[in-house]
Amino acid sequence: MEGLKAILLICDGMADRPVPRLGARTPLEAANNINMNTLALQGECGLMDPIAPGVRAGSDTSHLAILGYDPYTAYTGRGPFEAAGIGMDVRKGDIAFRCNFSTVDGNMLVIDRRAGRIEQGTDQLAAAVNGMQIEDVACYFKESVAHRGALVLRGPGLGACVTDADPHEAGAKVHEAKPIDPNDQAGAKTAGIVNEFVRRSYAILKEHPINKAREAERRLPANIILPRGAGVAPHIESFEERYRLKGAAVVETGLIAGIAVYLGMDIVEAPGATGGLDSDVMSIGRTVLKALEDHNFVLCNIKGCDIAGHDGDPDAKVKMIERIDDVVGMLMREVDRCTYIILTADHATPISVKDHSGDSVPIVFWGPDVRVDSIQVYDERSVVGGGIVRIPGTAVMNILTNLMSTQEKFGA
Ligand code: ZN
Ligand code: ZN
Repeated sequence: MEGLKAILLICDGMADRPVPRLGARTPLEAANNINMNTLALQGECGLMDPIAPGVRAGSDTSHLAILGYDPYTAYTGRGPFEAAGIGMDVRKGDIAFRCNFSTVDGNMLVIDRRAGRIEQGTDQLAAAVNGMQIEDVACYFKESVAHRGALVLRGPGLGACVTDADPHEAGAKVHEAKPIDPNDQAGAKTAGIVNEFVRRSYAILKEHPINKAREAERRLPANIILPRGAGVAPHIESFEERYRLKGAAVVETGLIAGIAVYLGMDIVEAPGATGGLDSDVMSIGRTVLKALEDHNFVLCNIKGCDIAGHDGDPDAKVKMIERIDDVVGMLMREVDRCTYIILTADHATPISVKDHSGDSVPIVFWGPDVRVDSIQVYDERSVVGGGIVRIPGTAVMNILTNLMSTQEKFGA
């Protein structure tokens, strides 16, 4: 593709707080990340609050915000994005749920919410319940990884304000889904459909040959589907409509893929990308370059730092940052002079918190015509005082499309 292009590299959960074991440095400060520092030296730096200062972001809401969509209106729960991410056809207004294949006994008591962590055969089990028609509602179900799946309901008069059928603990009875507000007719209708779907899934799955075989091997059968986290598929303007950029996504998790698919971006798979600490990050980098041949915007998410943060493992996080640093160096060498690189994180996942925190994250814009500032080092504290100062996530695409001259003027 001709003209200006951009790579938005989001290192999941890379930002952190000072870690005593690293001499009160953050993993970014402790890492040997010379290429990131070069990016900072040649670029314009600052801090970003993915959603707003102090707000603890999920990866999904944060990616929406960084791509320029207000998460408070665009995000209606994980269900619709999860379903889109595993390749289901999700249309505006559909009601989508995350689901587990679970194991229940004849009294609907949950024995295992994850059906013995079933790995194989869920595609056949899913096919057996997919496409069910309940009243005037079509029910689509597809398996995801391991015991997970997604349910999409399509029909008139449905609403997403319903409670979960999943009781969220073993030993409890499967819940009847109910409307959150007893006077909500759309919620009541949806709850009725969900309950019937759960009943029928049990009737079909408990007799399924896959489960008969599992029982013969003394393994738990995946004999019921338990939906949770209802969300209505939101109306969202596609990425291309909004920015006039043809976007691709090279991402490691179904959740982020779901966001990208929902925004109409093309998903490009990187060989060897595992979403773990062992991921082939160089392959991810090469895939980004490949995607740039026929797109002018590529979103890339590398997951590893977030995993190390959740594990509370500073050494693993430092190592992951250094491996990503090699990718940054390769991208800087390989892209042409018309390409921007934005390097940031979708949130902090501090070693001390072992979960996402509301801390700000460093960001750098690198590429043609950027007003290079005096910052020379890329980490949480060194970027303070850079030209970007401190921005919310929703400003990133404005700054980028301003640089790329694809933004329409506001006013005369
Ligand atoms: Zn994240
Ligand atoms: Zn995380």
